[in-house]
Amino acid sequence: MEREVAPIINDFWGRAEFPRKAVWGLRDLGITGSQFDEHGCPGMSNLASGLISMEISRVDPSVGTFFGVHSGLALGSIVLCGDEEQKAEWIPKLLSWDKIGAFGLTEIETGSGVALGLQTTATRDGDSWLLNGNKKWIGNGTFADVIVVWARDVEDDQVKGFLLETPAEGFTAEKIEGKVALRAVENAVLRFDNVRVPETHRLQRANSFRDTAKVLRLTRGGVAWNSVGCAMGAYEAARAYAIRREQFGRPIASFQLIQDLLARMLAGITASQCVASRLSALQENGKVSEQQAAMAKMYCTTRTREVVQWAREVMGGNGILLENDVARFFVDSEALYSYEGTREVNSLIVGRAITGYGAFV
Ligand SMILES: Cc1cc2nc3c(=O)[nH]c(=O)nc-3n(C[C@H](O)[C@H](O)[C@H](O)COP(=O)(O)OP(=O)(O)OC[C@H]3O[C@@H](n4cnc5c(N)ncnc54)[C@H](O)[C@@H]3O)c2cc1C
Repeated sequence: MEREVAPIINDFWGRAEFPRKAVWGLRDLGITGSQFDEHGCPGMSNLASGLISMEISRVDPSVGTFFGVHSGLALGSIVLCGDEEQKAEWIPKLLSWDKIGAFGLTEIETGSGVALGLQTTATRDGDSWLLNGNKKWIGNGTFADVIVVWARDVEDDQVKGFLLETPAEGFTAEKIEGKVALRAVENAVLRFDNVRVPETHRLQRANSFRDTAKVLRLTRGGVAWNSVGCAMGAYEAARAYAIRREQFGRPIASFQLIQDLLARMLAGITASQCVASRLSALQENGKVSEQQAAMAKMYCTTRTREVVQWAREVMGGNGILLENDVARFFVDSEALYSYEGTREVNSLIVGRAITGYGAFV
């Protein structure tokens, strides 16, 4: 990341272009699917997997998001919800990056309310299914070779997962333009007009939204770690700047108020690292609950939002220039804060566990 991505990322981010060539080196590190141990996955600890997400995002959260979508959401859906045949076919293809994955859950009209309100439909037609509807915000959606599409079976009203290979008749992907965060990720609006998917491509162990939620429980931990990395990247750039920048004839790092910001940043990062590490330890023992994952995602992204603001502040006006390596983290943290469950929705998950009352509606 430091050698290949750091030198070019501001340029790609500025042009809202995914740095394909530069990220390809990640493929050869053997870190894809790190937390899984089936069909050639590396079988690392959850902590190691989290640290990988952190380190990627420490250099760039867009690349961290690309990796999280491919290696976590897409591959994770297959590991958690596919049958043995599907795993044997797809896991090696995603590990080698012969196929790049995406994860299609959110829709134009349905975001936080997907559990109840998912509108994309799946209709059984002989040995296959017809998908109709749309998806919004889908990371890697413009170039993914396989997209995990979540759709409601019109027969039993349950949410099911489908592996859609692209291109496909009736399927279109349109890049979302005008984003001010995670600009180097290619997010897309997907449309499905009677798109045919064989029954063999239906994830055989995804029978209701509860199974979708299992994937999110896993990947919310990854987002917590991504946000820790995002905060670290901003902190490191701000600290280096404070040491080299002089005002009133002295390095600004020698001023008490600057040190106060740096101290608060480091405390926020350290607290987040502890929360994310604890979540990884719980995952390791297979004991993590939905509310623990939600709490870690909520807590870490909230701390990160503070840290990146302070990092920007340390740099004064120069903090809003891409070239000083904080502005990117500053705005990217906004997307981390809201995707894979907004801060509000994750706190509602925690609140329900604390009180016994669901307060979503
Ligand atoms: C950069 C980016 C990448 C993404 N990548 C993907 C992807 O790859 N795949 C995918 O499927 N999705 C993806 N998403 C979608 C993301 O998960 C959603 O944006 C998120 O779940 C929130 O949905 P929404 O944006 O429609 O907001 P809404 O659900 O419309 O929420 C709007 C506001 O209302 C609040 N709100 C909603 N419901 C409640 C409630 N019951 N109580 C209190 N407040 C509430 C929310 O917290 C928020 O503040 C991505 C999003 C972004 C921005």
